[in-house]
Amino acid sequence: MRLAENLRKFCCIALAFSWIPPLTAQARQLEHLGIEVFSPFETEMDQLANRYGDKPELALKHLADLKAKTANPTEISTALAYRCGLLSGMRKNKEIAGVLSELDALAADGSQRQVKLAAMELCKLYALGDNERNKYDSLVAAAFHFIKSTQAPTLRYWISTMYVEMTSRQGRARDAMEAAKIALNVARSNNDARRQSTALRDLALIEVDFGNKEDALAHINEAIRLAQSGNAPASELEYMLNRGFILTALHQLKEAKKCYQQAEDMAIEQARADIPGVVWSNLSDIAYQEGKFLESKALSEKLLQWANSRKDERLAAYARVSLGIVHVRLGQTDLADTYFREGIRYFESEKQLVDLKEYYGVRAEALAAAGDFKRAYLSLEKKLAYGSEIDLNSRGHDAAELRELLKTEQREKENLELRQQAQQSRVAVKEAQLRIQRWWLLAGLLGVFLLAAIQVIWFSRRKNQLLERENQHLDRERYLDALTGLHNRRFLMDRKSPMWTHALQEHQRSRCAAIMIIDADFFKKVNDTYGHAAGDAALIDIANRLKRNIRESDLLVRWGGEEFVIFTDAPNQEGLINQISRLMQDFKPFPLVFEGQQITLSVSIGYALMPLQWADHSNADIDQSLILADSALYLAKSRGRNRAVGVHLLQQQKLDMQQILQDLSLAEGAGEVILMETTGPK
Ligand code: GH3
Ligand code: MG
Ligand code: MG
Repeated sequence: MRLAENLRKFCCIALAFSWIPPLTAQARQLEHLGIEVFSPFETEMDQLANRYGDKPELALKHLADLKAKTANPTEISTALAYRCGLLSGMRKNKEIAGVLSELDALAADGSQRQVKLAAMELCKLYALGDNERNKYDSLVAAAFHFIKSTQAPTLRYWISTMYVEMTSRQGRARDAMEAAKIALNVARSNNDARRQSTALRDLALIEVDFGNKEDALAHINEAIRLAQSGNAPASELEYMLNRGFILTALHQLKEAKKCYQQAEDMAIEQARADIPGVVWSNLSDIAYQEGKFLESKALSEKLLQWANSRKDERLAAYARVSLGIVHVRLGQTDLADTYFREGIRYFESEKQLVDLKEYYGVRAEALAAAGDFKRAYLSLEKKLAYGSEIDLNSRGHDAAELRELLKTEQREKENLELRQQAQQSRVAVKEAQLRIQRWWLLAGLLGVFLLAAIQVIWFSRRKNQLLERENQHLDRERYLDALTGLHNRRFLMDRKSPMWTHALQEHQRSRCAAIMIIDADFFKKVNDTYGHAAGDAALIDIANRLKRNIRESDLLVRWGGEEFVIFTDAPNQEGLINQISRLMQDFKPFPLVFEGQQITLSVSIGYALMPLQWADHSNADIDQSLILADSALYLAKSRGRNRAVGVHLLQQQKLDMQQILQDLSLAEGAGEVILMETTGPK
């Protein structure tokens, strides 16, 4: 039994838990996990791994092609983890960093996140340098933690198997059992002989430690059968050794021996030089249990020699411990203790606590049996000390693993938060950009609209200005006299101009306004004597003389031909007469000089005061006043020209206007009107 430990080490499964109660029921609950079938992608990847297992370059190439075909996060994560495994085998750790950042970017998206995180832990593990082996266990633990509740069969099998190895090595049978169940479930779900046999072997070894040896035997038998059917001789040999160990535990020593012999034959067939020593070690153990101490001693000596020749210190140490045990039985206590001390020294230098506990126990038992109670007691003390150290370590390990897990989870949480924050700020920036773009667009549209509006306003203003100018121009043409530049008769008749309104207002304010018609005397003669051009020049000259003798607020128009109309006002009648007199004074004494010729001009004026009241007290309107002024002009002409005649008062009904007009002087005689005559200069 004691030497069977060698085999456990050989198989990398160390289960030294005497304190764990049998958990048969747990081992039988395998069926309760769901079906975990490989996806077609995973199957293809598996085939690829089998085909190119020894050609990693090719495997990598085909894996890349395969990965390109899928968009499934789980499948991508699985492929990337496998890629890391291949790269690690090729010692291309730098490339693993690239895969890690690819996975990290992938993990930013929440779907199948646990799988991605598990794959990341696996990649980190593959990237570990030789001096970082101490991180291996916590990475496996983290990977298993993430994969525990996901649906990713390949990764689940893979990581669970690693976890089984780790927990078994640490003596954590309960955890190993949980992971072994997962691995076996994946293997069974897929009817995968190779994986099933591995998982069953792992399970069987755990079961031995739970004391469930019958199940262990059934499972190792199934594992061997499957390994044979899967055509895997290497595994078969290994499992055969495992079977021997289990049979020994069941005290089926004959069967166990047969099993080891078979294993030895297979080792020779397969040229496995590392196997015989393991076989002798276990056969020595069986011989000891059978009470064949000399045979046991011989086998152990053979093993020691063999181990020394191979410089296998570990097996040599086992051999020495075995020799210690058997020499106690042979009554050679001192020699036995020498072997013990030499053997145990190795385990102490390697700090193999589980072995130390085991062998100090074995030594104590042997020494006690030989009656050397003192040394037996000291050895037992050592055993207990190592036992409690293991317990402490185990608990410490649990705590450390938990701490690592929490750290990993915390880190992932922080990463996720950071990613979310980054995503949120990216979204916020994008939204802000969109808002700004929208504002710009709006501002642009507004600008365009404003420009258009300004243009429309500007154009319509300009158009109005042009129209106004055009109108002004037209008005000028319409209301201005081309020869003299004065307003024309139409201007007065339309009475629309601001000037007219202004004049009217002025005259309403004044107490003595008048409308007068000025007619050049004998103008026909001017034309006749000096020519039409001289006549035109004379007309311009008359206009200028009139202009300079009236105020700015007075209205002067060319009434037609050589006739002009002035609408003026004065403070009183005297003032008005003075103004008229002054006006006439500006003509006759100052002849016009045209082309060296002197042209003497005089004017006759007919005017009417405004407003004139009829007998019924109604005011004579402008037209009536004009007619009266015209009649007065006629009178001025008839009375000898170069004079002014004005109607100052009316005593008549307006109905009688025709009568008045027929003969103004007659009406004057009849007292119906009061006229004033002002003579011009001599
Ligand atoms: P009276 O003193 O009675 O007013 O005599 P008059 O010759 O001025 O009278 P009449 O009305 O018979 O003649 C007016 C003349 O004025 C006739 C016409 O040849 C002349 N006349 C009218 N308009 C113009 C013009 O624009 N240019 C020139 N050169 N002569 C004009
Ligand atoms: Mg005339
Ligand atoms: Mg005239």
